[in-house]
Amino acid sequence: MTDLYDVVVIGGGPAGLSAALTLARARRSVLVLDTGQARNERAAGVHDFLTRDGCAPAELISVGRAEVTRYGGQVAERQVVSARREGSAFAVSVDGGDTIRARKLLVASGLVDELPDIKGLATLWGTDVLYCPYCHGWEFSDQHIGVLVTSAESVHQALMFRQWSPQITLFLNGTTDPSGSERRQLDARQITVVTPVVTEVSSRNGRLDAVVLADGDRVELAALALLPRMVARSEILAGLGLRRVAHPSGLGENLQTDGGGRTSVPGVYAAGNVADISAHVVNSASSGLLAAMAVNADLVEEDTERAVLG
Ligand SMILES: Cc1cc2nc3c(=O)[nH]c(=O)nc-3n(C[C@H](O)[C@H](O)[C@H](O)COP(=O)(O)OP(=O)(O)OC[C@H]3O[C@@H](n4cnc5c(N)ncnc54)[C@H](O)[C@@H]3O)c2cc1C
Repeated sequence: MTDLYDVVVIGGGPAGLSAALTLARARRSVLVLDTGQARNERAAGVHDFLTRDGCAPAELISVGRAEVTRYGGQVAERQVVSARREGSAFAVSVDGGDTIRARKLLVASGLVDELPDIKGLATLWGTDVLYCPYCHGWEFSDQHIGVLVTSAESVHQALMFRQWSPQITLFLNGTTDPSGSERRQLDARQITVVTPVVTEVSSRNGRLDAVVLADGDRVELAALALLPRMVARSEILAGLGLRRVAHPSGLGENLQTDGGGRTSVPGVYAAGNVADISAHVVNSASSGLLAAMAVNADLVEEDTERAVLG
């Protein structure tokens, strides 16, 4: 490791690695610090990423790391615990007590999916318990898909999944009944509505089997969809003054950028899910590229100013 990197990237998922690739190719010294827990790590494959459709998430990361290191970028499996300003640069503290310095920080630490506290649900997250029809709808085509109400958007989610299967059941899970217009939409699309609280998500041989209701009934399912609350993983930046804002969807919170990766704190950039909870893999990689270009442009400006001043 060097004394002062041009850029430290916090998080080595699609956003962080894409940013690091661009920065390494821009001949910047770049270090990616990553704990290796990509959000979709439990999914069998990445979908809707042209030329990579179906690729295992771990393979995507391993190819990405190889591309970054091919151009001299570095990747270290270390957890960032905090970051602070130090003069015109930044000091990043990692687990084990080391401190790494960089002229710029690019945050790509992803988000936390906050799941409902229902027995058996968390262990199936990412395989048969899911949220995104575009990521996994095809894999459950024409099978029985349940949608668990967790948000005001859940009826919409059920209507979305109806595109992939005619067998959709909406589990109200003890929440209030859908409005009159929602009920008409659900009825018109033959979506079954089940009222009682869901007490357990039961599995057999590691696959979803059924949901168990408070009245003892079991409803057999191939998949269960829900909308988790999605919260950007940004606590490590609190010391720099970065705060999360509500996402317009009402489904969670992320950091705010200017659309090109710059945050409100000069020298700190953000990409991927930490900056947009709705971003998919390809958008996350794309936002990593944009943020890297913003970082490099700002470094070029600083280098030029320094050169002019002699
Ligand atoms: C179950 C599931 C399936 C999905 N399937 C698809 C799909 O098929 N297609 C698709 O386009 N999208 C899919 N997504 C969405 C996709 O996972 C995200 O869009 C994508 O992972 C966002 O990339 P990212 O780089 O922003 O974050 P992440 O991929 O989450 O990467 C963040 C990285 O930062 C690291 N990190 C976090 N905190 C620290 C720290 N303090 N120090 C060091 N490292 C840290 C993490 O370990 C992780 O490696 C899916 C999501 C889920 C939940």
